[in-house]
Order: sequence, then C-alpha cells, then structure tokens
Amino acid sequence: MIKNPTQYDAVIIGAGPAGYSSAIRCAQLGLKTACIDNWQNKNGQRVLGGTHLNSGCVASVTLLESAKLYHALTHQAGKHGIHANHMTVDIPQMIQHKDDVIDALGVKIAEVFAHHQIDSIHASGKLLNAKQIEITPVDGSAPSVLEAKHIILATGSTPIKLPYAKVDNEFIIDCFAALNMHNLPKSLAIIGAGVNGLELAAIWSRLGAETILLEAQENFLSLPDQQISQEAYRIFSEQGLDMRLGARVISAKRNRNKVDVDYQDHDGAHTLKVDRLIVATGRKPNTENLVAAEANLLLDENGYIHVDEHCRTNLPGVYAIGDLNLLGPMLAHKGIEEGIYVAEQIAGQSSFINYDTLPSVIYTEPEIAWVGQTEQALKTMDIPIKVGVFPLNATARAQAIGQTEGMIKIIAHAENDALLGVHIIGAHASELIAEAVLAMEFSASSEDLARTIHAHPTLSEGFHEAALALKKISVHVPL
Ligand code: NAD
Repeated sequence: MIKNPTQYDAVIIGAGPAGYSSAIRCAQLGLKTACIDNWQNKNGQRVLGGTHLNSGCVASVTLLESAKLYHALTHQAGKHGIHANHMTVDIPQMIQHKDDVIDALGVKIAEVFAHHQIDSIHASGKLLNAKQIEITPVDGSAPSVLEAKHIILATGSTPIKLPYAKVDNEFIIDCFAALNMHNLPKSLAIIGAGVNGLELAAIWSRLGAETILLEAQENFLSLPDQQISQEAYRIFSEQGLDMRLGARVISAKRNRNKVDVDYQDHDGAHTLKVDRLIVATGRKPNTENLVAAEANLLLDENGYIHVDEHCRTNLPGVYAIGDLNLLGPMLAHKGIEEGIYVAEQIAGQSSFINYDTLPSVIYTEPEIAWVGQTEQALKTMDIPIKVGVFPLNATARAQAIGQTEGMIKIIAHAENDALLGVHIIGAHASELIAEAVLAMEFSASSEDLARTIHAHPTLSEGFHEAALALKKISVHVPL
C-alpha cells in the first residue's frame, strides 16, 4: 500500500527484467522505491516479471525443454538402450508445468521486493510530467497521482500487429498465445523466421506439428555471423523445418477450421492451408498510453523513447530502459543491466555499461549465441582479422551427449590478436557464450584463450580448440 505518495525517491513503471532489477537496485541503494505494473496472468492473478517471464523467453525456454525431453525419448533414447514405448504428450500438462515455473519465479521477485520494502503497485502508470505519475489501479479503484524525484520507464515491448493477418488468438495467434496452445496443431505456419519465429518453431515442430516458416527476407537470420546462419539453416532443414525465404505474406484469413495464408515469392502467388498461424513479425516499444502529451517526452516515429548514452530522456530525472530505447537490441539482459546502471546513477555512484560485450542468444535446438562483431561486419570495416573454427563433433563431450551439430568460431584482430567476436551454434551455446563475454570484457587475446586450460571432456574445450584453430594448431581435428 502507498503510505505517503510524495516520499518516493524512485518510481519505476514496469516490472519486467529491466524494471524489477532497477527497483531492487534502487532499494538496495537506500532509495525509497515503488514499482508500478499492470500484468495479470490468465487466471486474473497479479504476477511480476513482465512479458519476458510470463509470455516471452522464460516461457519459451521452459516449453522447449519439455519438447526436447519428448524428442530425446522418442528419437534418441533407443541408441542408449532405453526403449520408451507408448509415449504420449499431454500438452495441457506441459503448459501447466510452464505456468508453474513462471509462477514460482514471479513469487521469487515478489519476495525480493518485499525484502527490500519496495512498494509494488498493481496499476497502469502514466507519466504526467518529470515528477508525477498517474496510477490507474487494475482493481478498478479511482486513479491517483504519485510523486517521485526520479522516474524510470521500463514498460517493455509488444508484438507488432499486421493489418493483413488479424490475430484472433484462436486460429491466427500471437507469440503469447503460441506459448499457451492446448492442442497440437497438425500443421502450423509462422510468419517471420526471426528469433521469435524460430524459437516457437523449435518447440512445436519437436512435438510433431508440421511447421512452415514464411520469411520475407531472402537472407536467413541476418543478425548472426553468416557462417553460423548458414549452418543453422542446414541443421534446421535437416530436422524437418520447412523455411521458405523471400516469401512475403500478404493476407491470412480464417476459413472454417483452417487458416488460408496467401504469400508471394519469386515464383508468384501461393496459398497455404494450415491449422494454426503464428504471427512473429517483430515487436514495438510499449509507449502507447504511457506518456501524457503535455509531458513533452521525446519519442521517435516508431514509439521508441529518445535517450542519451546514460538512458536519460529529455526530461530531467526521467529515464527509459530496456526495450523502450534504441541503445541496443531488445534483450532482457540488456534491460537488466540498464536498470542497475540507472539506479546507480540516481544514487550518485559512478557506473558503467559495456554494450560491446552484450551477448545474444537464440533459444533453438541447437542454440545460437554470439558476442562482438561478425566476420562480415569486420570485413566491411576493413579491419584485418584471423578466424578459427572448431566443429563441436570433434569434442568427446558432444559425442557423449549425442549433440554433435554445430561449431565455435573465434575472430581475432590479425595484428594485435584482440578477440573481436565469438559465434556459436551448438548444444548449450547460451551457457558457453559466457566464457567469451568474460574474455572480451577482460580484453583477452586469442592467445589467452589458447593458453587457458579447459576441462576435458567438456563442450567448452571447443573454445580452446577454436583458439588453437586460429593458429592452425588444433589438436582434435586434422590440420
Ligand atoms: P524479428 O524482427 O527478429 O523477426 C521478424 C521477421 O518477420 C523478420 O525477419 C521479417 O522479415 C519477417 N516478416 C515481417 N513481415 C513479414 C511478412 N509479411 N511475411 C513474411 N515475413 C515477414 O522479430 P521477432 O522475432 O518477433 O523478435 C522481436 C525482438 O524481440 C527482437 O529484437 C528479438 O531480438 C527479441 N527477442 C529476443 C529473444 C531472445 O533473446 N532469445 C527471443 C524473442 C524475441
């Protein structure tokens, strides 16, 4: 409950990863803090954690683990001498398990909030000016105004709606509904083979849905290093994913119990008939209804909030973090770091964020992860480089766990040997990339990695080997 609204040093709007991290750090630093959030789960209950926890990456990664388990039991257990007969999939139970994981994590955030005496307000917040926020409680009670010395906007992002593929969340569904399907569709199309589309495809195709990705761009996955993207395309194709590139969807409509999807590619116009269609065509910042016009907060034409390199908006004492600004990609861990960074600035500490060592992860199977620059970008910048690539199938551990697909690629400066980029496709890439992030954060060279002893047999040996490959002295592959 709000005791004295005028007392707050910091008020955060949004309790996703950026917002809750910021609130916790503000409170740790002795600031009187409130966090406003309007999320309710499908049972109408309040849950902290925002989109990322409730309908984004955490939900997606949890379902993918279930799908991987099923796939391993049905496709891989046999060669271990384990015969799992009469396997069935109970999708509602799988969804329930995902919800239980989310609920448990939401409760943990609430416990940390309570421990730090953060006032957690279940309401929609609207910035009125640099010092005031209007709050409209979710329970329908009367709006009121909060005052704060510092305001941190952290309302995240929301899926972009397409006028030609209207989401009804029954047949044409958004990414949130795609993580809550209670029946396995026989056929599934996804508009967009971006990060979201591929992650959802990894789940539902593994459970048995015949999955087609329709991607307008000619290039597959333009963000990662292209060698990794090509390898991903090859692996996912072999797994049975039907990825149609240069395929622009122009219309999608429900037709009885199916969806008709019209798209165009080089060969002309086509129509697909599928059981369900997922729209995964990107996200936009959640700034609608966040700011009163008279607040004069600067936004760009796409709704992103203008900030300087310290996440400061044009209004003194007002910050925008996470998906709301354009300081980096829409990633939860980027938001978390910005949340902490802003709290420390407010408390008068000197703080720092290094966007150059921000890792990116795509939670497919195998996973894709990278940090730093791609080979293509470095060549465009005329930076002299040397490259070492190590195939993960040459590590004993990859063979032991039966996940031999993928590679680790290290790019270093040709003259001073500084690490410039590390790119992975393979099992546990999301965990493996942490070593590369740390190495780059500490300005390591490829020689440093090559001289670092890695445990054997592990997947992380791939780093050691890729660094050796860069000097053409790999141990476990022929020179
Ligand atoms: P995206 O922009 O990565 O991909 C959307 C794709 O849809 C694009 O490739 C685009 O060409 C395609 N597209 C758009 N209109 C189309 C049409 N009519 N027909 C065919 N294709 C069409 O968007 P996303 O995957 O929704 O992700 C949004 C943001 O959220 C990104 O910043 C992403 O990094 C982030 N995200 C991150 C994670 C993670 O960290 N693992 C997971 C999900 C999302």
